[in-house]
Amino acid sequence: MDKLAIVVPCYNEEEMLPISSEALRGALDELVKKNKISQDSFVLFVDDGSKDKTWELIEAEHNKYPNVYGLKLAGNVGHQFALTAGLLTAMQCSDVTISIDADLQDDIGVFEEMLDKYYDGCDIVYGVRNKRKSDTFFKRTTAQAFYKLMSSMGVKTVYNHADFRLMSQRAVKHFSEFKESNLFLRGMVPLIGYKTDSVYYERKERVAGESKYPLKKMLALAIEGITSFSVKPISLITVMGGIIIFGSICAFIYALVSYFFGVVEPGWTSLMISIWFIGGVQLLSIGLIGQYIGKIYIEVKHRPRYNIETFLGGENE
Ligand code: UDP
Ligand code: MG
Repeated sequence: MDKLAIVVPCYNEEEMLPISSEALRGALDELVKKNKISQDSFVLFVDDGSKDKTWELIEAEHNKYPNVYGLKLAGNVGHQFALTAGLLTAMQCSDVTISIDADLQDDIGVFEEMLDKYYDGCDIVYGVRNKRKSDTFFKRTTAQAFYKLMSSMGVKTVYNHADFRLMSQRAVKHFSEFKESNLFLRGMVPLIGYKTDSVYYERKERVAGESKYPLKKMLALAIEGITSFSVKPISLITVMGGIIIFGSICAFIYALVSYFFGVVEPGWTSLMISIWFIGGVQLLSIGLIGQYIGKIYIEVKHRPRYNIETFLGGENE
């Protein structure tokens, strides 16, 4: 039997924490009883620099229950980084990890199925939503558009899979070799390789607290996902440039013909339009290229991705 670590990133989750802690401890107990995991398996709550009482609650849970661990990050670094910090910490003292959000929208009932697949030899098991009933219409359509856009940009992601997944120790270990600062786990995990599989579940509604992913963060994640994995936008610019050059050749011929056949061109309007149009295209292109340069800038700095303030682990860790 292997030692399981459930990794839960938390940002301002004081309302959710006691509920999810109880539910996850319950799930652990049940799996221990069914002989699926070892007795010293644990839940690791990662406090992503919360401004509310989240860390105090984690500490209290840790003091009460030996199988609740806590990791406090010194500041808010965002979901992807908090999750990475949790996975890399958990990897050192467990055989297999499952990552899940604190709001328990993902089904803890499929842990067992995930573990069965793990024992069958899978190193990565994706939790995949088969319905999106509980999301608002807006979230559902924007999320769907996001997955479509990602795949059209050539980023390999698992459709309708967020960050609910099982990873074996060696998968996390390989993941830890990815040293980049622009993190998009959903795109990175498929690059690890090994045998993978998926389990399907229905996503539930958030029980307490509100979404920590407002539209602004969702858009940021989408842009991050595309620009960290694909250089297609740059080639799109090239194509656009080609089309515009072709268009201007046509316009030039048209102007020449009208000149020789004596049709007087007012000129000014078309001139203004083309100046504005080309100006816009140039700005857009420079902006996009700037995005990549910005990323290079961030990567070459090689800054630490997070800062661990406290780790509350088991006795021998
Ligand atoms: N989260 C985090 N840091 C952040 C934002 C969110 O650790 O800066 C955590 C949050 O506590 C939750 C998970 O990431 O456990 C997913 O956030 P949420 O459920 O709010 O997103 P949604 O399900 O609405 O996309
Ligand atoms: Mg959620």
